[in-house]
Amino acid sequence: MGTKDKCSICSQKIKLRYNPMEEWSIDGILCGDCYSKKLNEYYPGEHVRVNKELD
Ligand SMILES: [Zn+2]
Repeated sequence: MGTKDKCSICSQKIKLRYNPMEEWSIDGILCGDCYSKKLNEYYPGEHVRVNKELD
Protein backbone atom coordinates (compact mmCIF):
# COMPACT_ATOMS: atom_id res chain seq x y z
CA MET A 1 0.00 0.00 0.00
CA GLY A 2 2.43 2.62 -1.07
CA THR A 3 1.44 6.17 -1.61
CA LYS A 4 4.49 6.88 -3.70
CA ASP A 5 3.03 5.86 -6.98
CA LYS A 6 4.84 8.43 -8.99
CA CYS A 7 7.27 7.86 -11.76
CA SER A 8 10.82 8.86 -10.87
CA ILE A 9 11.33 10.43 -14.25
CA CYS A 10 8.14 12.14 -15.32
CA SER A 11 6.36 12.23 -11.96
CA GLN A 12 3.23 10.84 -13.46
CA LYS A 13 0.97 8.77 -11.38
CA ILE A 14 1.64 5.14 -12.07
CA LYS A 15 -0.89 2.46 -12.60
CA LEU A 16 1.52 -0.26 -13.47
CA ARG A 17 4.92 0.03 -11.90
CA TYR A 18 8.18 -0.92 -13.43
CA ASN A 19 11.34 -1.39 -11.48
CA PRO A 20 14.34 0.26 -13.10
CA MET A 21 17.43 -1.76 -13.82
CA GLU A 22 20.25 -1.32 -11.34
CA GLU A 23 22.58 0.12 -13.94
CA TRP A 24 20.18 2.97 -14.62
CA SER A 25 20.86 4.38 -11.16
CA ILE A 26 17.28 5.38 -10.70
CA ASP A 27 15.78 5.48 -7.30
CA GLY A 28 12.15 4.57 -7.23
CA ILE A 29 9.77 3.24 -9.80
CA LEU A 30 8.98 4.02 -13.39
CA CYS A 31 5.88 4.24 -15.50
CA GLY A 32 5.62 2.11 -18.58
CA ASP A 33 6.52 4.95 -20.91
CA CYS A 34 9.70 5.93 -19.14
CA TYR A 35 10.66 2.34 -18.68
CA SER A 36 10.41 1.73 -22.40
CA LYS A 37 12.35 4.87 -23.15
CA LYS A 38 15.13 3.89 -20.80
CA LEU A 39 15.29 0.45 -22.29
CA ASN A 40 15.70 2.01 -25.70
CA GLU A 41 18.39 4.34 -24.43
CA TYR A 42 20.39 1.62 -22.83
CA TYR A 43 19.72 -1.14 -25.27
CA PRO A 44 19.15 0.54 -28.61
CA GLY A 45 18.02 -1.64 -31.41
CA GLU A 46 17.29 -4.54 -29.20
CA HIS A 47 13.81 -5.73 -28.94
CA VAL A 48 12.81 -5.92 -25.40
CA ARG A 49 10.82 -8.88 -24.38
CA VAL A 50 8.91 -9.14 -21.21
CA ASN A 51 9.14 -12.86 -21.34
CA LYS A 52 12.65 -14.02 -21.72
CA GLU A 53 13.12 -16.83 -24.09
CA LEU A 54 14.97 -19.74 -22.72
CA ASP A 55 16.64 -20.58 -25.96
ZN1 LIG B 1 7.36 8.17 -16.36
